[in-house]
Amino acid sequence: MRRALCWIRRDLRLSDHRALFEACSNYDEVAVVFVYDENILNALTNQSDRRVTFIMQSLLEVDAGLRDAGSSLIVRHGDPVTEIHELSTQLHVNAVVTARDFEPYALQRDGAVLDSLAKIGVEFVAVKDQVIFEKGEILSKSDEPFRVFTPYSRCWLEKFERQFDAMKFESDLKKLIPSERVMEFSGGLSYDQIGFIECSPWITAGETAGKLALQDFEQKIDAYKESRDTPSANGTSFLSTHLRFGTISIREAVRMAARHDSEGARKWLMELVWREFYQDILANHPRVATTTFNPSYEKLVWPGLLDNFEAWKSGMTGFPIVDAAMRCFAETGWMHNRLRMVVASFLTKDLLVDYRKGEEYFASLLMDFDFASNNGGWQWAASVGCDAQPYFRIFNPYLQSQKFDSEGTFIRRWVPELADLDSNEIHKPSQFEVEMRGYPMPIVDHDHQRKLAIAMFEQVRKSSCQMN
Ligand code: FAD
Repeated sequence: MRRALCWIRRDLRLSDHRALFEACSNYDEVAVVFVYDENILNALTNQSDRRVTFIMQSLLEVDAGLRDAGSSLIVRHGDPVTEIHELSTQLHVNAVVTARDFEPYALQRDGAVLDSLAKIGVEFVAVKDQVIFEKGEILSKSDEPFRVFTPYSRCWLEKFERQFDAMKFESDLKKLIPSERVMEFSGGLSYDQIGFIECSPWITAGETAGKLALQDFEQKIDAYKESRDTPSANGTSFLSTHLRFGTISIREAVRMAARHDSEGARKWLMELVWREFYQDILANHPRVATTTFNPSYEKLVWPGLLDNFEAWKSGMTGFPIVDAAMRCFAETGWMHNRLRMVVASFLTKDLLVDYRKGEEYFASLLMDFDFASNNGGWQWAASVGCDAQPYFRIFNPYLQSQKFDSEGTFIRRWVPELADLDSNEIHKPSQFEVEMRGYPMPIVDHDHQRKLAIAMFEQVRKSSCQMN
């Protein structure tokens, strides 16, 4: 009798689940576990962290699904290395099967779990689940990982058309170990036990909600190309949180896009390729976790002021589109992609604050926080990453506002002080003699800061040329 433990982490669903499929296909008996990782939870400062609620609610659905099949989810709380080791011994498993994860902490954790299991003769099996193509699968003609998006995406698409395995990984749940034999090893699903408080996560959690969001977006996908850049238009999929926690399978998302022969669907697929590109960059160049992808910019010194950083965080910069985005973010934990680009550019190029401070703030709040995408997005906006925005092409927050929130609909919703202004005044109220009801004047002058940013980049480029 060969027994496996399926350890779920970023794959909080039961359908099209690669690790569960492998476990059920290759072993006689399977138990499913989730570990509340104290190394991650202890670092969270907010007891009402929305992501913890999202995870808990998603796990309740996983547990309900397992119970329908006669089993139940084992939940542990602690250090995964200890918990997985102990549980493997208690259940006498031959293997632990899980989905591969290339984030820096995950690599270190999984290495330690593998070593600890090896000591008791338990195999650690990691399979691909989070992406269509992972590290080592998309390579240039000289077998090197790509450093630039366009050739990466071309290669990705060619391989996808040739090889995409439309197979759905549906598991044989008859292999699950009955509930009464696993419950004694489970700590149960409760917020108290992990020291958190339930809150409203804004995005509905769980696999059913993930599937509904995908179905809902399928109705809009053909118009995605036109609607994706307007924050007030709800033209994007809102699937990033589901993709982050695996409450939707990436294969299911891609299959949906592949059913549509439209510009919108092709554009959306390209966004999923960006997601894989950044995962590829992080997996192949783990140094980007702490420093710039482009070595020329490692020595950049960012002179931005702490007060300005605080004003940015609290949505009080006097730049309405930036403030609306930051207030929406603080309230919901989510921000539209166009606005992420605008506020990241503003923090780094207008306020001259180190992109790592913005990256860290985003990481602390983003519902869909994904190390690779967040790091890639920040390095792109700060012009220090792979295939980044050129340093001299700096977003003008007023023009971005006029172009992507032309009527001021988004600003009015999040900056009520400006709600009475007309669509001409609202983008740059300081230019008009209007009542601003306590709303601040701009904390910097965009044109002046733009020149400073360009000079800052040029200086470091000059000094790195001299050194070479
Ligand atoms: P859609 O427009 O519907 O796109 C579909 C999916 O494609 C998204 O769900 C996401 O998985 C992926 N995607 C879209 N754009 C990008 C992109 N530029 N880079 C990588 N993947 C992308 N995305 C995250 O998932 N997690 C993050 O932590 C994150 N941090 C970011 C930080 C900055 C500074 C920037 C500029 C972008 C960041 N993004 C991040 C990318 C993007 O903003 C979000 O994925 C997108 O806004 C999510 O909304 P959606 O699901 O409606 O996207």
